[in-house]
Amino acid sequence: MTTQQGTRQRRDERFDAGRTDRATFEVRSPGTGDVVGTYPVHTDDDVRDAVRRAREAAAWWADLGFAGRRERLDAFRGILARRIQQLGGIVAEETGKPHSDAVLEVALVLDHLAWAAKHAEKVLGRRRVRSGMLTAHLAGEVEYKPLGVVGVIGPWNFPVFTPLGSIVFALAAGNAVVFKPSEFSPGVGAWLVDAFAQVVPEQPVFQLVTGDGSTGAALCRSGVDKLAFTGSTATAKKVMATCAETLTPIVAECGGKDAMIVDEDADLDAAVDGAVWAGLMNAGQACIGTERVLVHERVHDAFLAKLTAKVSGLRAGADPEAKIGPITMPSQVEVIERHIADALERGGRIAAGGGERDGQVVQPHVLVDVPDDALANTEETFGPTLTVGKVRSMEEAVARANATSYGLGATVYGKRGREVARRLRSGMVSVNAVFAAAQLASVPFGGVGDSGFGRIHGPDGLREFTASQAVVRQRFKSALPLTSFERTAKMEETLGKVVAIVHGRK
Ligand code: NDP
Repeated sequence: MTTQQGTRQRRDERFDAGRTDRATFEVRSPGTGDVVGTYPVHTDDDVRDAVRRAREAAAWWADLGFAGRRERLDAFRGILARRIQQLGGIVAEETGKPHSDAVLEVALVLDHLAWAAKHAEKVLGRRRVRSGMLTAHLAGEVEYKPLGVVGVIGPWNFPVFTPLGSIVFALAAGNAVVFKPSEFSPGVGAWLVDAFAQVVPEQPVFQLVTGDGSTGAALCRSGVDKLAFTGSTATAKKVMATCAETLTPIVAECGGKDAMIVDEDADLDAAVDGAVWAGLMNAGQACIGTERVLVHERVHDAFLAKLTAKVSGLRAGADPEAKIGPITMPSQVEVIERHIADALERGGRIAAGGGERDGQVVQPHVLVDVPDDALANTEETFGPTLTVGKVRSMEEAVARANATSYGLGATVYGKRGREVARRLRSGMVSVNAVFAAAQLASVPFGGVGDSGFGRIHGPDGLREFTASQAVVRQRFKSALPLTSFERTAKMEETLGKVVAIVHGRK
């Protein structure tokens, strides 16, 4: 594709009608270097305007109710499903990932969209709660109300799946959303906002602002009711500091250093297949990508032989036949090379893959004999690398897997997988499968430690974008009216007896 053919001069007309003084930025496709889009850098004022419009839209959207919103969200899902190839094309163009992987990313989001729209009422709607013995005269109800306007800041690595994990759940809960995609993938954000406007033409319920980190910071300061951030741990700290200025709460979905544990009784072919895919898909640029593999010593050599054979058949490239695409962000190439060099300097070896880098194309690397405290085992590499280590027992595997400041996802292969999973310090564990927890719409997605806090997906993901409200009414007058100065000494004596019976026997 030539630069001319590839360029989409897209602007958000609601902001930019008649403006010629606007600063802009270009998006280049990582594989070809072609400019594939030019977008405005939205300023603090632009972002505040968007949030002001969103506030009006939020009231209208909340009034639609669960059923009305479900209808629109289902229609949005229909557009995504019908135009999956078109959207996949933009994802591939902006991120450099193979087109088939881009289409898979869109396909995986559809279940989440359906789940959020379908379950929002059941999870968030008004429901009665039980009273206690001393509170039998009271009847309580709880409901989860939308916050108003949610700001979403997204990364480029899964520019559909990742931000929609926040956006769709925030929308289903009744909020309006202002979305700031990564400066590497604004075209995907623009496509999503345009598609949503087709099913919700009445109000700007889902808006786009584009730019670099400064536009993101403006969104943090704009008065949104919550900020859902997905990106690196370092940026999350800046986002949290900026949001603290206005006491804006945040969800932080950050990086990871996920381990895969392979037990002695694991299906080795399945484990190898899983490790290769979870480690190298999207050129390793996945927050829940496997970066470290810990294998029981009894099967370590057999596992490594199968793994190296499989990786040797894989090639990274910018051409359509390559299963692994180029690295999206030029600056990440330096991080990956630094981690590999550090591992080799400290006694590590390349067991499979390797080879010269070509521009932003980095070949896969399987590294062995890498010390636990090497960068490739402690920091997020975010590239097509896997370290493989040997463990004597599952106890050792758990201890080494947990020896990281991150705690996002993990994978276990073996018959004791569920038992091992429960001892891992991570928000999600997939057993005898990879990326399983991310696929299932009904379970929460998120991490602990440096991987962040808060949850998207599942019931927790819906509640994340709401505030609970308790309404408690008196059904009848209590025989022990405690909340009154009319309380008598006799009543207090009775209270003492009741309390002793109810709570004093423990
Ligand atoms: P970054 O942290 O670099 O950027 C994330 C977003 O924050 C981008 O939109 C970026 O804008 C914006 N941003 C940058 N600076 C600021 C600022 N000061 N204030 C507000 N916003 C700002 O992450 P990447 O885009 O490089 O994404 C990769 C990271 O995301 C990895 O660490 C990965 O593990 C993590 N990730 C986590 C996931 C999860 O669910 N836990 C899922 C996917 C990725 P701009 O790009 O324009 O600079």
